[in-house]
Amino acid sequence: MEITLLGTGSPIPDANRAGPSTLVRAGEAIVLADCGRAVVMRLMAAGVIPPMLSAVLVTHLHSDHLTDLNDVITTRWVMSPMPNPITVYGPQGTAEVVAGMMAMLAPDIRYRLAHHEDLNDPPAVTVVEVEQGDEFMIGDVTVKVAATDHRPVEPTVAFRLEHDGVSTVLGGDGVPCDTLEALCAGADAYVQTVLREDIVRTVPLQRFTDILDYHSSVEQAAQVATRAGVKTLVLTHYVPAIQPGQEDEWRALAAAHFAGEIVLGPDLTSVTVG
Ligand SMILES: [Zn+2]
Ligand SMILES: [Zn+2]
Repeated sequence: MEITLLGTGSPIPDANRAGPSTLVRAGEAIVLADCGRAVVMRLMAAGVIPPMLSAVLVTHLHSDHLTDLNDVITTRWVMSPMPNPITVYGPQGTAEVVAGMMAMLAPDIRYRLAHHEDLNDPPAVTVVEVEQGDEFMIGDVTVKVAATDHRPVEPTVAFRLEHDGVSTVLGGDGVPCDTLEALCAGADAYVQTVLREDIVRTVPLQRFTDILDYHSSVEQAAQVATRAGVKTLVLTHYVPAIQPGQEDEWRALAAAHFAGEIVLGPDLTSVTVG
């Protein structure tokens, strides 16, 4: 199972880091989790065009995780020679958000349908809203869903992808909680969005320090990984962005609480587990 950090940024604009987005390749499936800023550019860099995606997972409805889903939908549509339906799995509220996106895209869809002789159907997007305990298949990959704690953002979910005895958990945003930890139990990889509490705390901006109460610190992510018996901890969505030369500092904070492999780095950092 191959995990690629397509975008390792956060809502804070960064010239080098795209918004939060992770790609998992397992068996025949190519699964996109979250669709942050510039996700389609990073998909291309990872060798994946949007028509190739098996499904899209959405951990929660914060804009930094969703802003370019409309680009995924449109680009898949215009690049597919035949109708190529896609399913978006996300928490309650996802249907409302996707319906809003489709409304936003309505003029574009009209123009292209009118202009292209061989394009006769609008993009086919199905939304499946999921919750704690749900389980479904994407091809031969089993996906399990757990509730996460990103309050006051509710509901929010994490996904566990399993294929051939190998598993990856996509934790999304949030602080540690029992349901997330249970989902992580024995996983080969656990991908968690993190912030540096020691740095964020020093910034004298209320709107910035507000984020401390609903995001995992590097240390908290490492502690969850240890308690759950995870093999590889993958950190992403760095707040603030890791500057060149700081990787070891971030890694050391996690390594103080977790003895397994720790993966972090620039956009397109990739790791194969299992
Ligand atoms: Zn986020
Ligand atoms: Zn969030």
